[in-house]
Amino acid sequence: MFKKYILSVFLLLLILNGINAKDIQVSILGEYNPVQLNLAIISGDYYISLDDEKILKVDNADNVRLTAIGTKVSVEKNGQFMALVENLQLISSDSLSSFKINIIRANSKTSIYPNSLFVSVKNGTFRLINSVGINQYVAGVIESEIGNVKNIELLKVQAVISRSYVLRNLDKHKAEGFQMCDKVHCQVYHGKCRFNLLINQAVDSTGYIVIFDDLNEVIDAVFHANCGGQTINSEDLWSKSKSYLRAVSDTFCSAGKQANWQKEIAKSEWLQYLSRKTGQRIEDPCLFADWNRRTQLPCCSVSLKDIRTDWKLRSTLFIISEQDGKIVFNGKGFGHGVGMCQEGAINMANNGYTYDQIIKFYYTNIHLFPYQFKTE
Ligand SMILES: [Zn+2]
Ligand SMILES: [Zn+2]
Repeated sequence: MFKKYILSVFLLLLILNGINAKDIQVSILGEYNPVQLNLAIISGDYYISLDDEKILKVDNADNVRLTAIGTKVSVEKNGQFMALVENLQLISSDSLSSFKINIIRANSKTSIYPNSLFVSVKNGTFRLINSVGINQYVAGVIESEIGNVKNIELLKVQAVISRSYVLRNLDKHKAEGFQMCDKVHCQVYHGKCRFNLLINQAVDSTGYIVIFDDLNEVIDAVFHANCGGQTINSEDLWSKSKSYLRAVSDTFCSAGKQANWQKEIAKSEWLQYLSRKTGQRIEDPCLFADWNRRTQLPCCSVSLKDIRTDWKLRSTLFIISEQDGKIVFNGKGFGHGVGMCQEGAINMANNGYTYDQIIKFYYTNIHLFPYQFKTE
């Protein structure tokens, strides 16, 4: 009876660790090019696997120092040399464990991560991969990106969007041997969510819910700061039409911080620009005063997307007037305008809308369901 209990606990631990499809591999701290670091356990039980062969026991009082030497990792524990290996894994026995990495360099960098760590050496510096439960990763991302938000419904919106991003992009770094990087290229991730506990609550209460389109694919839940009152159809910006990225008119963001902007350009510069873009001599500055979403100037075929990039405008929603020999752009919103408008979502959440109402307002023809993992 007792043996059976031990066995089932062991099996449960196996399921909770290593072989769980709900874990993802995140490449961390690569931009610091670490060559020496200290590892310490913050909570939970850990052991270190050396080259998948030997086990090194570690506990909370131990300091483990790793140094990259050639292609190998030198391992010291409490000042004593232990091994020179190709790779090592710091493995946790439960999903609530966390450890600290202190990168040794001029401005030492300390971070705390949940779960497990894989260490090897590539091109003379450490390659660090954090193996972490998807929801703990999502909580870390939200704290890294919008850590001080206190509205639980808004945090739930971000949890569902961030989780959808991960589960749609699992192959993004496949060739490099991990699934997500910790930079803005994927999602900014500075480690364990530690300060705003509402984030954990928002992540847990949305379980494994993600956003599916009408073909039951996880959507690309793009968002931007402020749409200026109207979002854009995806094909008007990126040429690809997506059933869930439809233009919606949005009154929720009109008082947002990024609701309005203005930019002035010398008229001569503007006319030179239009002439260069069209390959013709242009003398009409192409003024217009109606706020319709458009993809190109009304008088010539120059795209607003190009104008936004070339003149560093905040959005493609603007009108053009002329004042005292200058061309004046009055604009609304900030960002590409496709998908969810963040300032609108903030206002909706502050006015009592729930996370699913907010998501369904900005994404069209979508369904919110828990993701089915292959092992289930
Ligand atoms: Zn990436
Ligand atoms: Zn908006």
